[in-house]
Amino acid sequence: MSNLQQLDNQLIWHPFSQESLEPDNLIITHGKGAYVYDEQGRSYLDLVSSWWVNLHGHAHPTIVQSIEQQASKLEHIMFSGFTHQPAIRLCELLSEVLPRNLKKFFYSDNGSTAVEVAIKMAYQYWILKGEHSRKLFLSFEGAYHGDTFGAMALGQSSGFHDPFQELLFQVLTVPYPATWEEDEDLILKEQHALNQLESILHQYPNQIAAMIIEPLVQGSSGMRMCRTEFLKQVVSMLRAQDILIIFDEVMTGFGRTGKHFAIDYLKTEVDFICLSKGLSGGFLPLALTVTTLDIYQTFAQQSTRYTFSHGHSYTANPLACAAGIASLELLVHPNTQKQQIEIARAHQDGFHILKKQHPKDLQHYRQLGTIGAFSTTFPINHNFKHQALSSGLIIRPLKHHLYLLPPYCIHYEECLKAYEILSELIKNNKLIRL
Ligand SMILES: *Cc1c(COP(=O)(O)O)cnc(C)c1O
Repeated sequence: MSNLQQLDNQLIWHPFSQESLEPDNLIITHGKGAYVYDEQGRSYLDLVSSWWVNLHGHAHPTIVQSIEQQASKLEHIMFSGFTHQPAIRLCELLSEVLPRNLKKFFYSDNGSTAVEVAIKMAYQYWILKGEHSRKLFLSFEGAYHGDTFGAMALGQSSGFHDPFQELLFQVLTVPYPATWEEDEDLILKEQHALNQLESILHQYPNQIAAMIIEPLVQGSSGMRMCRTEFLKQVVSMLRAQDILIIFDEVMTGFGRTGKHFAIDYLKTEVDFICLSKGLSGGFLPLALTVTTLDIYQTFAQQSTRYTFSHGHSYTANPLACAAGIASLELLVHPNTQKQQIEIARAHQDGFHILKKQHPKDLQHYRQLGTIGAFSTTFPINHNFKHQALSSGLIIRPLKHHLYLLPPYCIHYEECLKAYEILSELIKNNKLIRL
């Protein structure tokens, strides 16, 4: 064991890890494109984009340069009473790709805080409007919106936050009609979800402040996808009751679904979009809660009672904004679009391999843009991700769901090869059936 490894074991408590059950955390020394490298120089193909943050590959030179230039000018300035060009420029660029009704940008620094900001704004909005009965939030069953308290409350049905259940505010949940290729029960599931929503809306008139939604793909609950048509119906039912709509695009944003944002499939209007993860191209923590002029102007009154009293020390960090600008310029480049289409093709061809080799063990194939996922008919052995790592692949199964969500710089052949390796791993009975 290297000295560094020992120190890591001694000093560091890693996130979402039960370290007593897992091998040592792998020390990564550098990254390039779709690969990261360990101390021995072994390469690992990053098939989860480092927890869904990386867009264009590791250490992308354009983003590196943008951060370097900014660091030598201004590293940070508090964002109340002060502002700066990178923060403004990033919002200017984003307003060209976001739905037109979303015009006001509130910065924070991670996905959870982007969600906290949206729900606090929604809640205070109704107070300021004098509609004091609107205190409830709605979310989908299985939703995940982050690990801070508000975000945990919204995602309590996911089971990730069980120890804190008693501390979480009440949230109403709607069944989520997760679907996949050749799903025979699709219409029934959607109808059931819509009926449940209908009855909740009926039961709580003028009491729901907002509904939060991971549009089209629920990430953490296993890349569970739903249909655009279904979501459109949900949105119009909520609109009819003046319930605010928050799209949490922390994972789906910035091209993952094949369009810049999942909302682009719906062509609808919502009141808030939460962005983080890909916002800085995966380089630095940064988040945005984007909202409408209607929401903003409700707060913009000549009285401190109307102030939105929320902010973080590193709000709109200039280095993170500089990374965001460079990353967004890469995202809108036509080449990136082509790469995204190639990834989609690799998923479909990869599915083809898996379907042939594992007709019984694998099911529920689903793909949207650069996200490809499928499920096992049995629980996945905890060691599976470590076995994949030994084969040079970084994956992170979510319960019995496996998915590939690579950075856009990955080549078709690399992605297909990854499917072949995964197929071998599954075939070699390295998945232990419990
Ligand atoms: C990851 C994630 C979050 C939380 O983001 P953090 O930066 O980890 O706090 C919120 N919502 C969704 C949909 C996510 O995937």
